[in-house]
Amino acid sequence: MRTAFSEELLKDPHLKDAERNLRKCVHCGFCTATCPTYLVLGDERDSPRGRIALMQNMLESGTAPSPETVKHLDRCLSCLGCRTTCPSGVDYASLIDTSRVHIEKHYRRPWRERMLRAFVLHMLMRPRLFGLMARAAQLFHPLTPLLPKELRAMASKAPRLQSLSSAHREEIALTSAATRVAVLPGCVQREMAPSIDLAARRVLARRNISAVPLTQTGCCGSLALHMGQEELAKSCARKMIAAVEAENVKSPLDGVLINATGCAAYMKDYPRLFAGDPEWQARAERFVSTLKDFSEVAVPRTASNKGIRIAYHPPCSLQHGQRIHGLGEKLLAAAGYELTAIPDSHLCCGSAGSYSLLQPEISSELRERKLAAIRSTGAEIVASGNLGCLSQLAGEDEAPTVHIAELIDWAEGGPKPVSLR
Ligand code: SF4
Ligand code: SF4
Repeated sequence: MRTAFSEELLKDPHLKDAERNLRKCVHCGFCTATCPTYLVLGDERDSPRGRIALMQNMLESGTAPSPETVKHLDRCLSCLGCRTTCPSGVDYASLIDTSRVHIEKHYRRPWRERMLRAFVLHMLMRPRLFGLMARAAQLFHPLTPLLPKELRAMASKAPRLQSLSSAHREEIALTSAATRVAVLPGCVQREMAPSIDLAARRVLARRNISAVPLTQTGCCGSLALHMGQEELAKSCARKMIAAVEAENVKSPLDGVLINATGCAAYMKDYPRLFAGDPEWQARAERFVSTLKDFSEVAVPRTASNKGIRIAYHPPCSLQHGQRIHGLGEKLLAAAGYELTAIPDSHLCCGSAGSYSLLQPEISSELRERKLAAIRSTGAEIVASGNLGCLSQLAGEDEAPTVHIAELIDWAEGGPKPVSLR
């Protein structure tokens, strides 16, 4: 595709990268068939190809976008299903991230939208505050209908806080820890589902891996960048990288692990965030070279067959973001679970970080579609590696959702996962 960026605009490394990707797009439209928002809304402007045209116009002009353009770009989940499908190698992540930063810099949203976005961002980035809000939502549940529309949707999605037994807190002593990895706890996960990291630590301990929790780290910054707040995202990334470097100086690490695929996918893109900043780009590259998802670290081990039928939901952040395929399934199969495939498993469940709070209607429609696909499998449990997907797909009349680390731990002699009690 031809582009018409001015020389001045192309001095910005992010715009230069966006231009490279725009040139690769041949408008074939293959990506349209795998875009969840296009499948739900049926509007070309809610497809990757349509959004690419909107982004090109907006970025080339260097000026404020129209409210229509912002509406269609806001509806994008950043699931990156389109990147997986594209035969021309268009890196859609680079385009949408650069566009979101552009919108934030040049467009003034209506005040209600500004307030909602600020509230969601600051609540999700602060684990304690998020925990307090979730407790309040549970306590004052009968008052939910009195809340404004936007907060009502949020209160209804508030996850239940876990109560852990001593078995869930149990640690396995390491005899001769050959490998030492730092575990990043994630913002929402450390507050809402501490059982996941505890289970992952037992799974790793059985493989002679010592998992050191790095609790002093803050948010990875993905929520900030997805709302176009580049400086805040960079500041979060610098703190994360510095915390891991400091731990490495104290005692050398063999790797860095995170049990939330959404955070892992975003952090693996840190070097792109620091394009044009040689010092931090180099530090980000070193950081990323050690960063692993749980499924990359925990090698499969045979365990007793529990005879349970499991539907494995591969998060978009794993299959499209990190381009990791089949590892979760191998772990579960080796642990003795009976796996069943979910139809259209490449499609997003509608969780997508803050998306389910900011775009509740589209998110609910995608959830319904995914749940219908899961029901068709007859599975007893839904397994996934991302808390966002697990919360999105949880429901009183649905199959329980469980993180794969908890399922592997259970199969290997650990406690029954909290959501199955
Ligand atoms: S599949 Fe790739 S090349 Fe084709 S329209 Fe989509 S982004 Fe462009
Ligand atoms: S990232 Fe997902 S929602 Fe956005 S255009 Fe691509 S496929 Fe569609």
